[in-house]
Amino acid sequence: MRYVIVSGGVLSGLGKGVTASSLGVLLKSLGLRVTAIKIDPYLNTDAGTMSPFEHGEVFVLDDGGEVDLDLGNYERFLDITLTRDNNLTTGKVYANVIEGERRGDYLGKTVQVIPHITNEIQEWIERVAKIPVDGNGAEPDVCVVELGGTVGDIESAPFVEALRQFQFRVGRENVCFVHVSLVPVLGVVGEQKTKPTQHTVKELRGAGITADFLVCRSEKPLEDATKEKLALFCHVAKDHVFSSYDVPNLYHVPLMLEAQGATRLLCEKFGLDMSRERPLMDQWREMTERVDSLEGEVNIAMVGKYTGLEDSYHSVIKALNHSAFSLGVQMRITWVKAGNLEPDAEHDSPEEHAKAWADLKAADGVLVPGGFGIRGIEGKAIAAQYARENKIPYLGVCLGMQVAVIEFARNVLGMEGANSTEFDEKTAHPVVIFMPEGSTTHMGATMRLGSRTTLLQNSGCTAHRLYGGAMEIDERHRHRYEVNPDMIEALEEAGLKFVGRDPEGQRMEIMELDGHPFYFGTQYHPEFKSRPNRPSPPFLGLVQAAVEHMNA
Ligand code: GLN
Repeated sequence: MRYVIVSGGVLSGLGKGVTASSLGVLLKSLGLRVTAIKIDPYLNTDAGTMSPFEHGEVFVLDDGGEVDLDLGNYERFLDITLTRDNNLTTGKVYANVIEGERRGDYLGKTVQVIPHITNEIQEWIERVAKIPVDGNGAEPDVCVVELGGTVGDIESAPFVEALRQFQFRVGRENVCFVHVSLVPVLGVVGEQKTKPTQHTVKELRGAGITADFLVCRSEKPLEDATKEKLALFCHVAKDHVFSSYDVPNLYHVPLMLEAQGATRLLCEKFGLDMSRERPLMDQWREMTERVDSLEGEVNIAMVGKYTGLEDSYHSVIKALNHSAFSLGVQMRITWVKAGNLEPDAEHDSPEEHAKAWADLKAADGVLVPGGFGIRGIEGKAIAAQYARENKIPYLGVCLGMQVAVIEFARNVLGMEGANSTEFDEKTAHPVVIFMPEGSTTHMGATMRLGSRTTLLQNSGCTAHRLYGGAMEIDERHRHRYEVNPDMIEALEEAGLKFVGRDPEGQRMEIMELDGHPFYFGTQYHPEFKSRPNRPSPPFLGLVQAAVEHMNA
């Protein structure tokens, strides 16, 4: 097993995840099986309890793990399926060590950060790196380990120390350290400044880790003189300094690193053979060219609680992009703040209200993504109503399907005040109710999480076409509330059909509206399984319908 360890310095948000995934792609192109581990040095056990508006979306895995969104990047770039253990946090490490202490594993010993925490980290990495991820059941050959945060943070220190020790545990020749840093440009002459990188490399070396490669983020490609200076001051060979400059789309990153010799140098480092054909790189090149030459633009209104926070809806945006790219069009996302669609009270100002409506009306399709909490619910229901009545393509994901059902019950079935019991416990028409999988008395661990099977009820539905004729679908879930089974008959009689259900037939998974060009809802979150070359079917359905609407 080889390990590529990616750390970061200067500041967060440098695209360490994309760098790490891209290196993974290069290694995969050599015919190696590549897996990934993301280390998050925070104390939370997982991302499940964290706000997407602070930390970005909570990504959900097949096994129900609620993890950092970087795991989504790995799944998409490397086309793999990860497990909850592929996201290591301080919370998980300490929980294991403390449990072991109580069990008596360390009897007579003082339990300390070194060696107990650092050992736990190393054992974890070695164990998880072996878990098969590409569906063939075979053990991976390479594990990319991304260390979250920046080197020098108090909380990442035990991980940095563990990784320092790790090179001796598995052999220095099997570990490659990659440090991602920033090269800013200052002043009128626009000089590329190397000092921040010098400092962070010094910090890393102080912790006992020598970077094999530097990846320097900058707006423009690094100048030769800059690379030379970095090599001189940072104790790396000049050709081991990679420039990661701004590119029109993400798919360029592996190619950009490849062009600078990254694959060849990784082969040299690990003693690997580079002579074989690498069709993956051709595929990648083709994809990049396609994305660079899109024609036209389809406009999707994304109606959310907050807007403009791209990271909070990361996978949803990816799924929209994958769909648009596969159709050869550019994706334009117009953010509409749900509250601003509401007639009074809730909206920010009359101008914002007018703008929200103008934006909604200008869109070729409407998407209401998942969410929790009452804020913006009425606005989302209004968006669903607008799309339904005006035959605008609509996709509701999780909460987005729930608001569509609520709206339909109120305005078509005349059930005044119909609601989800999440937002109105005493509603006279509870069309969406708490349907936990486990305990009915505890909120904790009652979410329906991860991959579950949906069975299509007939082969004539849109879902059947979108999923390529499959009658059985596996998608990922993250919710507590569902459409009330007692209401199904009334809803279906009025045309809202539940064409996908769980194997027991009790849980409504897919909703479609009769006589509408595309009005589709899923209780599950299809965005998590979207891939660049295999767009998520419901998203592709929305974008396809939006393009048709645009051209009509
Ligand atoms: N809040 C809703 C529920 O728990 C929807 C959740 C979601 O959209 N992920 O069922």
